[in-house]
Amino acid sequence: MFFDEQIRRCGVDYFDYYLLHNLGRDRYINTEKYGGFPFIERLKRDGYARNIGFSYHDNAETLDRILTEHPEVDFVQLQINYLDWESQVAQSGACYEVAKKHGKKVMVMEPVKGGTLAKLPDNAMKSFNEYYEKGNLYIPTPASLAIRYAASLEDVAIVLSGMSNLEQLDDNTSYMQEFKPLTDGEKNLVENITDILNSTIKVPCTACKYCLEECPKNINIPDYFGLLNLYAVTGKTTGMYYERFSMNHGKASECLKCGKCENICPQHISIRAFIDEFVDLYEK
Ligand code: SF4
Ligand code: SF4
Repeated sequence: MFFDEQIRRCGVDYFDYYLLHNLGRDRYINTEKYGGFPFIERLKRDGYARNIGFSYHDNAETLDRILTEHPEVDFVQLQINYLDWESQVAQSGACYEVAKKHGKKVMVMEPVKGGTLAKLPDNAMKSFNEYYEKGNLYIPTPASLAIRYAASLEDVAIVLSGMSNLEQLDDNTSYMQEFKPLTDGEKNLVENITDILNSTIKVPCTACKYCLEECPKNINIPDYFGLLNLYAVTGKTTGMYYERFSMNHGKASECLKCGKCENICPQHISIRAFIDEFVDLYEK
């Protein structure tokens, strides 16, 4: 059994935090089918886990459903960082509010967004340096600002940050030992950097979904455009999200070029052209 192997390899008698991995709409169905929640509940009852929960990558609505149906969990692990806070794809802020509403502790993953917020583009770096230089303040690393952003949220209990060398470990431990939440000035700085990063956004889609109602192939246009925008900011594709967004929807390559979506789009977006770009990025 996997659990016996886990506890044997870790050389412990119990886990402080034990979680189901990467729930979202589809995995939740399977987790229910195979009894994932009763399993972790039993571990807790038998003393093998002090706190039980799950990591999560999907929208706020599904998270609300899971937490409503499973009030027994103690915590959730969410993707939270300042760039994703209002993103239609990751929905960091909305998911955090749902966890808070259900009274759950939040563990943060991806606080630096896979390294994106550690290496800011030049114009964002300029604002960053100017802010600290102007106040004659010690200039921290951009990664530390991102991690402190997540750690400053009231209901966050733990911030997990991947580190690949000793320098990053030293950096992380330095400011977390005597933790200081973001100042108002730093909150403004974060907003400013977010605006700069978002200004590279490619498709001005507001996710109104009018086009979805018209599309004969039920192509998930707004979510695919969310992924195009994410790529414009981070330079990274995320196949996991495409898989999820295309579930029960047409693939982008199924587009018939009928133009029905463009006739209704209030933002007058050249949807077919962006769909082509999306296909090049995700399906070739
Ligand atoms: S052009 Fe493509 S995306 Fe737009 S409505 Fe037609 S099939 Fe759907
Ligand atoms: S109708 Fe236009 S703005 Fe609305 S979701 Fe579709 S592409 Fe986006």
